[in-house]
Amino acid sequence: MGLLAIGTPLEWPEAKKVAGHVRSWGIEQLLAIWRNAKGKERDALLWGDEVEYLVVCYDEDNHKVRLSLRQADILAALATDEKLLQQGGGVPDVQTGDAQGHANPAPVFHPEFGRFMLEATPGKPWGIGFKDLLDVEPNMKWRRKIAKEHMAETEFPITLTTFPRLGSPDCIAPSFPVSGPKLRSQFVPDEIANPHIRFPTLAANIRSRRGRKVQVNVPIFKDENTPWPWKDPTVNYDLHNWPEDDDVRNGAAPDNFIHMDAMAFGMGSCCLQITFQAKNIEEGRKMYDQLTPLGPILLALTAATPIYKGFLADTDVRWNQISRAVDDRTPEELGEKPLKNDRWRLPKSRYASNSTYISQDPRLRPEYLDPDLIVDEDLKQRLIDGGMDNLLATHFAHLFIRDPIVVFNEDLKELDLTKADHFENLQSTNWQHMRFKPPPPGSDIGWRVEFRPMEIQITDFENAAFSIFIVLITRAILSFNLNFYMPITRVSENMETAHIRDAVSTQKFWFRKNPFSSHNKSNGSGTGTNTPAEQPSRPSTPTGPVEDEYEQMTINEVINGQTATDGGFPGLIPLVESYLNSMNVDVETRCDIATYLDLIRKRANGTYWTAAKWIREFVNSHPEYKKDSVVGDGITYDLVKQVERITEMEGRDGVGKEMLGRRR
Ligand code: GLU
Ligand code: MG
Repeated sequence: MGLLAIGTPLEWPEAKKVAGHVRSWGIEQLLAIWRNAKGKERDALLWGDEVEYLVVCYDEDNHKVRLSLRQADILAALATDEKLLQQGGGVPDVQTGDAQGHANPAPVFHPEFGRFMLEATPGKPWGIGFKDLLDVEPNMKWRRKIAKEHMAETEFPITLTTFPRLGSPDCIAPSFPVSGPKLRSQFVPDEIANPHIRFPTLAANIRSRRGRKVQVNVPIFKDENTPWPWKDPTVNYDLHNWPEDDDVRNGAAPDNFIHMDAMAFGMGSCCLQITFQAKNIEEGRKMYDQLTPLGPILLALTAATPIYKGFLADTDVRWNQISRAVDDRTPEELGEKPLKNDRWRLPKSRYASNSTYISQDPRLRPEYLDPDLIVDEDLKQRLIDGGMDNLLATHFAHLFIRDPIVVFNEDLKELDLTKADHFENLQSTNWQHMRFKPPPPGSDIGWRVEFRPMEIQITDFENAAFSIFIVLITRAILSFNLNFYMPITRVSENMETAHIRDAVSTQKFWFRKNPFSSHNKSNGSGTGTNTPAEQPSRPSTPTGPVEDEYEQMTINEVINGQTATDGGFPGLIPLVESYLNSMNVDVETRCDIATYLDLIRKRANGTYWTAAKWIREFVNSHPEYKKDSVVGDGITYDLVKQVERITEMEGRDGVGKEMLGRRR
């Protein structure tokens, strides 16, 4: 969630008045950063992963599990652990967020939105070496172990995306009365959010800008005994504490949807993110574009979110729920009222799939871009006048259509061009599935790209496997100059498809047929590009209709390749294998890497289940489940225990790897 500034935050009506001011200062800071860093070259190909955890707390006497709100105590315990500090870990360096000055530094822990969450990163970024890939899983296990060591005996860090009963009665410890002034939720207290002033302000100002509470509605899964139409039995229509209590009387909770009403229902979800440092800005822009179409595929492959507020949902991933949980659009922006006070209609929330491509790549055809993209034309012009090219200016001028949500009074005094605070204000509250990150001023960090769609996985083995896969496909993209371009609106469509129950085995996704380009020579990257030895380069037809370039594929085809047809898509895993073949990887390392790639291969072909499918099956076969979509306390306790057991067993010499196969 980024580093946390301190100050006096403005309430929404005041923040709104200075929004334009903050935006223009943000753009000036961006220009200053871009001017300084655009010529940065030869940065090392570093990367890092971020794992987010839920902290649960067992009440064995009552066969119950709750979320523990002791984030601050746990972080304080980590930050004061002498042994950890000596190893360079515990708390992040203020400038880089990493641990410092140790060969194998201990991991670093960070706060997250939910007061029941933790985030952990390796103590220093991973390097280019293949051996580093094999350190990821042990490091993730180390992180979990350290986290646990700083918790109470009854507390555990688990990597479920969401707590199955978040928002149902008595789901947190300690308990607080609901309906606080910030969230005004009828299900969760304000204390559910990290108390750092940034987080409650973010939630309150989103609600206030929107003019009502956020509306996080997920379709209910209709089982044999689910009443139909289904009316969320937990919604209270008789509250009169806040004006927002009217929301449900005004239709906020439609039939057949699980109704949730606060930012915590989205930003209380856990994900796995990977950040790459590129060697220069152009390489970063290329990675951003080429990884973009992979987002929905990886979202579906990592699907792990089938339960909300104690009910089985009809979707498998967290994405749209977070999107709705931070959706600050006004009725005018949503198209519910004629445009009068607001500037434009906005088709997407601030948390949404990417809407632009940014690489100066001759293979980027204008047809791939969204003709209806909303941009702030004045800010775009300012960037262009400042020397930025049209594509990059468009990207940032699109992000800057949003208002800054949390503005600190202290930051409005003077524009400091050596800082990035105003730029980051907008940048870090635009949660797209990729993030293009300019170097922080005054640091020697390079241009970075963050891959954000993946759901956290139950075991560290799985989280390591997905991290390694994304790293290797990125290397293959750069080495073979792969081309995954297709219209960006198709990527958005795929993101919706990824939500469908068991999308990984039942759905088809738009994907480019031919990843090899005939434009290699003019790509400007300078380095010779290889063609995978076993994959003859097929001619592409850059001037034909774009619609001929892509088609609908199953995830198995995208990952493992189209087998039958001549000239079919080779598959991401075969592309990674070709890349590994082209490199000098020693046999042992190659074998170890293969165990991780095998998970991806088998997840895609249906041999292994997604966590979402496994959780559904667990609920369905639980003796307390009445086939009515209700996931009660007893089921939740057993589910969380089982999740913890799988994670723990996996720590013992690969037992868990076997369990993956037994998830059928
Ligand atoms: N937890 C959020 C998610 O699941 C992301 C928060 C962050 O950017 O760190 O997407
Ligand atoms: Mg995070």
